[in-house]
Amino acid sequence: MATPFTYDAIPGRVVFGAGSRHQLPDELDRLGAGRVLIVAGEQEDAIAAEIGAGIGDRVVGRFSGVVQHVPVEAAAEAVDLVRSSAADAVLTIGGGSATGFGKAIALEVDVPIVAVPTTYAGSEMTTIWGMTSGDHKQTGRDPTVKPVVVVYDPELTVSLPPAIAGPSGMNALAHSVEALYGPGANPVISVVALESIRSLVAALPAVCRRPDDLDARSDALYGAYLAGVALATGGTALHHKTCHVLGGMFNLNHGDMNAVVLGHAVAYNAPAIPELLERIGRVLGIGGDEVPGALFDLAASIGAPTSLEAIGMPADGLEEAVRRVVVEAAANVRPPEQDGIRQMLDDAFHGKRPA
Ligand code: NAD
Repeated sequence: MATPFTYDAIPGRVVFGAGSRHQLPDELDRLGAGRVLIVAGEQEDAIAAEIGAGIGDRVVGRFSGVVQHVPVEAAAEAVDLVRSSAADAVLTIGGGSATGFGKAIALEVDVPIVAVPTTYAGSEMTTIWGMTSGDHKQTGRDPTVKPVVVVYDPELTVSLPPAIAGPSGMNALAHSVEALYGPGANPVISVVALESIRSLVAALPAVCRRPDDLDARSDALYGAYLAGVALATGGTALHHKTCHVLGGMFNLNHGDMNAVVLGHAVAYNAPAIPELLERIGRVLGIGGDEVPGALFDLAASIGAPTSLEAIGMPADGLEEAVRRVVVEAAANVRPPEQDGIRQMLDDAFHGKRPA
């Protein structure tokens, strides 16, 4: 008998495929947008210039002050620019940080956001926004922040170097794995998540070995898109709560943390999710009990970090991190116990392969 569930599907239009950036003029016409403000960080200059030229005299300005974690002061500057340029649409180009600025704008101004993601962060599929004030990151959910159109063009990800692509891919993988047992998990989203896991695990080694392999880049971006869909509804659990704690305490790189922690968080959760691990294992062609180790091996094989020590976590921060994870991950599918979480973090710190 099918399990009863409740599912609020999140709407949105997606255009996916190599070269799909050339459809942006048509997409903007569909929205009736004639005054477009581009949001893209300085590192994305070349991509922004090419896309800007393609959409021509609709462009009324560019906000290039994109930085990680959307500081409130920078977001206010972007909002001012949207207002002063009388933009009727905002086009974000870049990773989760650029998308984050689009979301911060949409919280303040009634303009549609069109997103062109160039990493595997997946934020463009969610209604979750995040902004930082001092050292405090505030997050929330609001349907108005979700981009109305998302254009996924794998050609734009070819310039993503393996050192960013690998950890970003592991971040996407973590979204799909945790969506299977997160607070909003449902059977439809589980199908999406498993397809995402299949595509990402198959593509990431080639993405990192042969950066110009467009087929692999395309499969990875497809997997990342599905991961964003899965995250948006499935939500997060121990893995993401742990990364949130470690990121807040030690300012570790988001993608790198995801690469290190995922296998260990799944190992901790394993006793509570045997059937789900079997399902993941079937997708990967391995046994359910081999999944945590396989996630660790994948990170190692794509050159992503596998130890918290190697990415800058201080050893004397372990005890406090354990204390905070136990509190923050209270709603996890397997209740966080002090000793188990200490073991999990200790193994992750030393880069020990999960059993
Ligand atoms: P990012 O956007 O900061 O990009 C990482 C780096 O990749 C940057 O240096 C950027 O310049 C570079 N880059 C991006 N595209 C490139 C390309 N095509 N070629 C070469 N370099 C490129 O980081 P991210 O990992 O994409 O996003 C992380 C942020 O997104 C975090 O703040 C995280 O909290 C947020 N996030 C939010 C959600 C949500 O639902 N709200 C979901 C996932 C992530």
